[in-house]
Amino acid sequence: MLSECTCFEVRGCGVQMSIFNYPSRETASGIITVDLGALVHNYRALHARLHGSVAGAVVKADAYGLGAGRVSPALYSAGCRHFFVALLDEALSLRHILPSDVSIYVLNGLLPGSERICAEAGVVPVLNSLEQLRNWKMTAGKCDRILPAVLQFDTGMSRLGLSPTDVETLIADPGFLDGLCVDFLMSHLACADEPVDPQNAEQLSALRRIAARFPGAQLCIANSAGILLGAEYHGSLVRPGFALYGGNPMTREQNTMLPVVRLDVRVIQTRTVPPGTRVGYGGAYVTSELMQLATIFGGYADGIPRHLSGKGAVYADGRRLPILGRVSMDTMTVNASALQPGSLHLGELVEVIGPHQSVEDIAEAADTIGYEILTRLGRRFHREYVWCGQPDRCEKGKE
Ligand SMILES: *Cc1c(COP(=O)(O)O)cnc(C)c1O
Repeated sequence: MLSECTCFEVRGCGVQMSIFNYPSRETASGIITVDLGALVHNYRALHARLHGSVAGAVVKADAYGLGAGRVSPALYSAGCRHFFVALLDEALSLRHILPSDVSIYVLNGLLPGSERICAEAGVVPVLNSLEQLRNWKMTAGKCDRILPAVLQFDTGMSRLGLSPTDVETLIADPGFLDGLCVDFLMSHLACADEPVDPQNAEQLSALRRIAARFPGAQLCIANSAGILLGAEYHGSLVRPGFALYGGNPMTREQNTMLPVVRLDVRVIQTRTVPPGTRVGYGGAYVTSELMQLATIFGGYADGIPRHLSGKGAVYADGRRLPILGRVSMDTMTVNASALQPGSLHLGELVEVIGPHQSVEDIAEAADTIGYEILTRLGRRFHREYVWCGQPDRCEKGKE
């Protein structure tokens, strides 16, 4: 079990950060429905794979675009007490939402000058370089407090973390952790979505070799895919993100998570056009027959990739309505001829993500990954929260 790091007190930081405000249901061009019941189910399902390790949650980038203000308390209610974000600002926002018995970690560490704000907010930085470490120790000295920290090591991804040389430098100095209380040692896997890649085992051994030099240290290495790699990757704490939100973290395996997200976007105009009609920017599509078109109120500014031009589709009544021509900034035009004439109306919702089309389906059509689709879903969509498909009983009064 992860030990409690009790060597610091949480104080109000006095910095007010607001969570994103989303438009109302009536005025929004589309609606993202987030199933908090499915989210909690996924958290518990991941937790059930652990034996003695603790499940944290990664809620960076506004909980992958789903609204950290609602997602984080739901995870808290499921027992989650360790929350990871990428930036200090995200951590400060979370501090205002979550009870004070949670640990909030800043994965990317601190920029010079922000250490004091972090310390006063009781947020734990991941220290990725000797410079970040020195700055944090200096802050501990100035505040005359022991400050909590996480040390991250680069075990083969060359992205963030202390290098092997840094480890030697660190250990050569007997007072190298004076003023700090290290919660755990962490690293990040580059290829966890590919279980057969030998780099997974290499990175795990590298972290273990480093950990041997920090007696009693606890480890944290697994993201969503890392959890599925098996118990040896679980350490004391795991930090899943994408799988909580219903994503499939594995490249070649069946998704075992429940879907959490739906996106429905409104119809803004319909028309019937004769053969030979050009559609959209550049006239990139020309109709070959009499066609019913529907213009949908979502475009690349809403996170619907322009790469879906001429490739993707939306669904209405279970029918596939292919995207014709280019996706615009705020709209896209689809072929609605598969529907009864006149059946789509102004303001009606069509499915972009849902039972007929998963986040991964869209990602594949757009030549990207589900993570990018989720995290870029627009701020112009209304977010609605439900519990296992039903209207969320806590929704009223919390807003
Ligand atoms: C984003 C992130 C995670 C979460 O990864 P998922 O694949 O979404 O589970 C975990 N650890 C680090 C360091 C990250 O940056």
